[in-house]
Order: sequence, then structure tokens, then C-alpha cells
Amino acid sequence: MRGERGLLIVISGPSGAGKSTVIAALMRRRDDIRFSVSATTRPPRPGEVDGKDYFFKTREQFARMIAEDAFLEHAEYVGNCYGTPAEAVQRQLDEGYHVLLDIEVQGAAQVLAKRPDAVSVFLAPPSMAELERRLRGRGTDAEEKIAGRLETARAECARARDYTYIVVNDDAEKAAGELDAIITAQLCRSELRNHFILEGDRSI
Ligand code: ADP
Ligand code: 5GP
Repeated sequence: MRGERGLLIVISGPSGAGKSTVIAALMRRRDDIRFSVSATTRPPRPGEVDGKDYFFKTREQFARMIAEDAFLEHAEYVGNCYGTPAEAVQRQLDEGYHVLLDIEVQGAAQVLAKRPDAVSVFLAPPSMAELERRLRGRGTDAEEKIAGRLETARAECARARDYTYIVVNDDAEKAAGELDAIITAQLCRSELRNHFILEGDRSI
């Protein structure tokens, strides 16, 4: 059990913007963050590990989880279902960890409606041309899927203003540094630090 209350952090951005890359860099910088592993009906990409990157589910298993109210949020994205298991998120917050959700814009809106205290960050690519280059460079998506992801990306970027913060992923380490700074700033908010002034030894 850690001393401070954990933050719920929602990160969205188009597929290929670099969310996984920047989150990995952020988690190398801080040991007080836990990544929320989502459930998905999408097939695993080469190298992805069940239970680490995602919980890979059939459509039937996913539908059962919806029926059992197991999700904090869920949404469909480019033909596949994705959802955040509610229980794991709450457990890690209760343990005092900051919990990071890498989710698309519809799911983020559901979380922010339920949890207005969540911190929201939109991770943007430096340009659409660079996004296309990264999607192709990753080499994990079929050509027709790339077209779908680029189409969806335009609609997603139009919703960036709904987020409290926008981080541009030009350089992944710089973007991770900005995310780190956002978390630090959130933890310094007076509503979280007030007890220190009122009850601490160094009260003024
Ligand atoms: P997402 O999780 O948003 O779908 P990824 O983290 O898988 O995106 O990144 C997509 C591709 O872009 C990967 O091949 C990754 O190595 C590359 N990438 C990520 N961030 C950068 C960056 N700042 N500069 C150049 N390439 C990047
Ligand atoms: P990918 O297939 O590239 O891993 O992810 C596609 C999109 O699904 C990304 O925008 C990612 O943020 C989003 N995503 C991943 N997990 C979840 C989830 O649990 N809920 C929602 N709503 N979106 C998710």
C-alpha cells in the first residue's frame, strides 16, 4: 500500500501515434504506474503476449464480460472490440498506484463521464504523413486496415480538444518526459496536498 492516492490517467491518440512506445518509456522513468491491460477481440500481433499486452478474447467471451458488467468502458474500433476490466483498475488504484489506460476516444469519453477526476491526455502524431509512415513502418497491419486506421485517425484528432492535455509525439523520450511532468503536476494540486498544510509538522 503506497501513501498517496493513485491517479487514473487516460491516454488516447490514433493508432500508430506511438502510445505503446511512449507509455513504455514513461514506465521506465516511474515505478509508481501500472498499465491497465485491456480485453480485445483483435488477434495478437507478432510479439504480443496474452495477459501483458491484452487479454485476447473471442467475440463470445467479450459479450459475456459485457453481460457480467466487467468493463469500466468498452467500444468497437476498426472492426474489433476493446474493453477495460473494471476490477483490476480499482484494485491497483486502491493499492496507491497510478493506473494508465491506453484507450480510444469513445471509451475515454465513457471513463471521463464516470470518473471526472481522471487525467486525460491526447497523444498526437507530429503530422498525418508521419502517422502513415509509422503505421506502415510498424508492419503489423494489413493494407486495408491501415486505410481504416488513417480514416479513424482524422476523426480522433478532431476530438483532441476534449482532453485536458495534448502531447505531440515527435521524439518519444521527450513525449514521455512531458507525460511524467503532467503526472507530477497533478500530484502537486492543492486539493491533494492540503492535508500537508493543515496537519503537517510544517504547517503555516
Ligand atoms: P500506438 O501504440 O499508438 O499504436 P506504437 O507505439 O505501436 O503506436 O508506434 C507505432 C510505430 O511508430 C512503431 O513502429 C514505433 O516504433 C514508431 N514510433 C513511436 N514513437 C515514435 C517516434 N517518436 N518517432 C519515430 N517513430 C516512432
Ligand atoms: P491497437 O489495435 O492498435 O492495439 O489499438 C487500437 C485502439 O484501441 C487504440 O486507439 C487503443 O488506444 C484502443 N484501445 C485499447 N484498449 C482499449 C480499451 O480497453 N478500450 C477502448 N475503448 N479502447 C482501447
